[in-house]
Amino acid sequence: MKRITSIKTRITIWYTTLMFILIVVVLSLVGGLSYQLSIDSIEKDVILQVTQVTEKLSKRQTDIFDLVDNKEEFKNVSIYGAGGKYIVGQYIYDVSNIPFEEGVPRKESINGKEYIVYDIRTPSPPRMHGGFWIRGVESVNSTMLLGKSAIIIMLILIPLILLLTALGGYYITKRAFRPVNNIVKTANEISSQNDIKQRIEINPDAKQDELHNLSLTLNHMLDKIENLINQEKQFTSDASHELRTPISVILAQGEYLLEIAENEKEKELAKNIVDKANQVSKLVSRLLFLARIDQNRQKFNKEKVDVGVLVDIATDSLRTLAEQKGILFLTNIPDDIIVEADEALLLSAITNLISNGIKYGKESGNIVISASKCGESTEIVIADNGIGISGEHLDKIWTRFYRIDDVRNDEYGSNGLGLSMVKSIIDLHGGKISVKSELGSGTEFRILLNE
Ligand code: ADP
Repeated sequence: MKRITSIKTRITIWYTTLMFILIVVVLSLVGGLSYQLSIDSIEKDVILQVTQVTEKLSKRQTDIFDLVDNKEEFKNVSIYGAGGKYIVGQYIYDVSNIPFEEGVPRKESINGKEYIVYDIRTPSPPRMHGGFWIRGVESVNSTMLLGKSAIIIMLILIPLILLLTALGGYYITKRAFRPVNNIVKTANEISSQNDIKQRIEINPDAKQDELHNLSLTLNHMLDKIENLINQEKQFTSDASHELRTPISVILAQGEYLLEIAENEKEKELAKNIVDKANQVSKLVSRLLFLARIDQNRQKFNKEKVDVGVLVDIATDSLRTLAEQKGILFLTNIPDDIIVEADEALLLSAITNLISNGIKYGKESGNIVISASKCGESTEIVIADNGIGISGEHLDKIWTRFYRIDDVRNDEYGSNGLGLSMVKSIIDLHGGKISVKSELGSGTEFRILLNE
């Protein structure tokens, strides 16, 4: 059986059960006590009636028929002869058979009915021989009847009370736990939308209880985390800015050295400087781009862009690189695929994906670039038949500086920022990008752009 996981339901079940046990215990105690009290009072009443009749008989020596017959006062008393023969008084056929027992009040049960019986033997008055038995009898069943109706009322009342307790309690607990739902909602939004700006909704009129304080503390903590992240972004942005000028100088002077190099050794050294300076320059401009995106400073001009033309520009710029590896470009783009986009940014995203296809493509392989309209959306697919990406890495490749194989990537001057840039660009356009890949078979990137 599945365990109940909701705290609200568990609390409700717990106190409803406790309430039920409490009601049953209290009712049993009260019922038992009141039953015993009723029996005691019946006993007292019976003993009193019998004693009074006995006294009257012995003192006033009154006529026994006068005394007992038709007298409301002694309605529970009857008189029997010394041999147990009924003479006068309340006649209960059933109890005549109960043996007489001097001065002992007791409970007798006959045919399922209960009676309190009390007998006293009197000395014989002058006109009678052998004396009498004075017997007091009262049925307990009338008391039981009262108990029964109480039980019936309770059988209706208990479920009603329990139902009201459970419903009322569940409602109160649900209200009390509302801040927890807000906390869970905010945490989910932060992780699904990667948006650290979200805060837990706090009702200013709500009671200042523990959960309210927890929400305040978590919001305070989120403020601090957001601050730290912003500081880190600001640092990356500032550092990149500071690096830009010295790198341009190193690059320019390296290129000059390459030009004036007099022998192979000098050429090799100068080329090394130029290559590394180019790598760092690429890294810095990517970092600056991401910093602009983070701080919402990236310029974004939407215009009508022909996807076919964009792909042609990208493939032309990469053709030499592809040819070095014997990789062929296969394009399948109808003429009229137009999208609303920032031309430079979309070109940069497509170029990045094709360039990855070359870097991670196999020798003499191919890269298929296709585009199509699906209703209001446009789909651009870039697929290679290269080394592929294994499942464990697939959802991490969008993370900044994430590289699957450091050694191999180094030979291409990779820095793990390409795909995070591509994703940021597509996000900026309100589009979606997804990847499908199989290790050893190839990788397919799919961009979906809305009109
Ligand atoms: P890098 O600049 O290192 O290429 P990216 O962000 O572009 O960084 O890619 C991240 C990682 O994803 C790469 O290091 C590479 O291992 C993997 N990757 C990206 N594109 C492909 C592809 N077409 N085929 C196989 N692996 C790829």
